[in-house]
Amino acid sequence: MNRREELALSLAEVEDRIAAACAAVGRSPDEVELLAVTKTFPAEDVAILSDLGLTAFAENRDQEASRKTAEFAELRPDAAARWHMVGSLQRNKARSVLRWADRIDTVDSARLADAIAKAATEPTEVLVQVSIDGDETRGGHPIGDLPRLADHVARSSELILRGVMTVAPLGMSPQQAFAALYEAVTRLRVDHPDATVISAGMSGDLEDAIAHGSTCVRVGTALLGSRRLASP
Ligand SMILES: *Cc1c(COP(=O)(O)O)cnc(C)c1O
Repeated sequence: MNRREELALSLAEVEDRIAAACAAVGRSPDEVELLAVTKTFPAEDVAILSDLGLTAFAENRDQEASRKTAEFAELRPDAAARWHMVGSLQRNKARSVLRWADRIDTVDSARLADAIAKAATEPTEVLVQVSIDGDETRGGHPIGDLPRLADHVARSSELILRGVMTVAPLGMSPQQAFAALYEAVTRLRVDHPDATVISAGMSGDLEDAIAHGSTCVRVGTALLGSRRLASP
């Protein structure tokens, strides 16, 4: 099997999983975006996934993404693609990330939000990254303080608050974690009705996330295979 056949097969499998998870809870698959996490994989793979119809891609490191997005643009100059930053972001990298990212999904502090706003040359879509168990070493802003950070982001004229993102914590069942996030987002939407994105669920737990309202699953391994390089 060549790489194109391999990726077509895994994409079909992931799409089946999303459809089944939606059907199980009476949701439409149209409500769930598939974000292909292409970190550590080459631009050629992105080109194939683009040929197969995907338009949303995610990276977690600025340098790698800068290179890859440029290579992809050369490989498929006419393809529609949106790039998401899903890795932890240092404030001094904001300007650089904004050169390739269409949305920054990992805003986890007011200081980072301010740095992005300062670097932005046009209104920039962001997600607030939430830590459900409060363990900030894994990234994310404590869930109890989500309203305050969301208010801060929403006050910036340079930032567009699109929703929230989370990585399920280790010491808690994914169901419990995603349920807690959904509850917090439901409350958040009273003040921020446009915060409609819930980015939750990865290769291992996308079904649980979809059962609890995820609108965006971030899938790496199940699409592209296991990563050879460690990529935190
Ligand atoms: C790598 C990564 C993913 C994809 O994880 P898989 O388990 O390979 O699907 C999703 N979200 C973030 C933030 C990641 O860094």
